[in-house]
Amino acid sequence: MIEVKGLRKSFGKLEVLKGIDLSIGKGQVVVVIGPSGSGKSTLLRCLNRLEEPTGGEIIFEGISITDKKTDIDKIRQKMGMVFQQFNLFPHLSVLENITIGPRKLKGLSQAEAEKEAYVLLDRVGLRDKANTYPGQLSGGQKQRIAIARSLAMGPDVMLFDEPTSALDPEMVGEVLDVMRELAFDGMTMVVVTHEMGFAKEIADRVLFMDEGVVLEDDSPDKLFMNPKHPRTKDFLSKVL
Ligand code: ADP
Ligand code: MG
Repeated sequence: MIEVKGLRKSFGKLEVLKGIDLSIGKGQVVVVIGPSGSGKSTLLRCLNRLEEPTGGEIIFEGISITDKKTDIDKIRQKMGMVFQQFNLFPHLSVLENITIGPRKLKGLSQAEAEKEAYVLLDRVGLRDKANTYPGQLSGGQKQRIAIARSLAMGPDVMLFDEPTSALDPEMVGEVLDVMRELAFDGMTMVVVTHEMGFAKEIADRVLFMDEGVVLEDDSPDKLFMNPKHPRTKDFLSKVL
């Protein structure tokens, strides 16, 4: 579903991604771990061209998204992204947050969009919050709404950038529960997270990134139990 070849990204003189090769199959759950500053967020942001790569190629569902001629807005509808900081529209109700994308970008009527929104609200367990505003929600609830909003566009892949890092500990579980269900439903997912238990449980593959390269790419069992690279060992000894 996603093929990354020799991906490079520099900010000025700083080279942040130094040639990433990656292939992600349909339905796979790939967890990305690694120290702060290793380029995890930049990699995710390049995947949907929130960052413009400086080199290499990204092919999504057979279409080169690094090709300037590709309509990136169409591609982005197929790639949901969930950030650490929720990014909900504060002046819109929960229901409007979820329906605005499908209405404006997919041309759904209000009634159709709302019908689908309620299905998604049920899925994240927040139907009763439809008419409240983001400011009235807890962090965990905001993140569940952010996931529902992404899903409303009908993505083929979901990208998560540390979706639980800004949450109080007691709210991490409810967000991971929603993500776990998505994974079991067969969603293709790329997840940057420090939740190692979650990674072990749901990842098909874990990538360890360090200084702009993927140092290891293996099953969670192998990577966690038997890391090959000393830097992976060192990182795991600090976070496990
Ligand atoms: P991670 O998510 O693994 O913590 P990032 O991808 O956010 O790492 O950042 C990798 C490196 O790129 C860091 O050194 C960071 O300071 C730098 N960086 C990220 N975004 C920008 C930007 N927009 N401009 C300049 N430097 C950036
Ligand atoms: Mg990051």
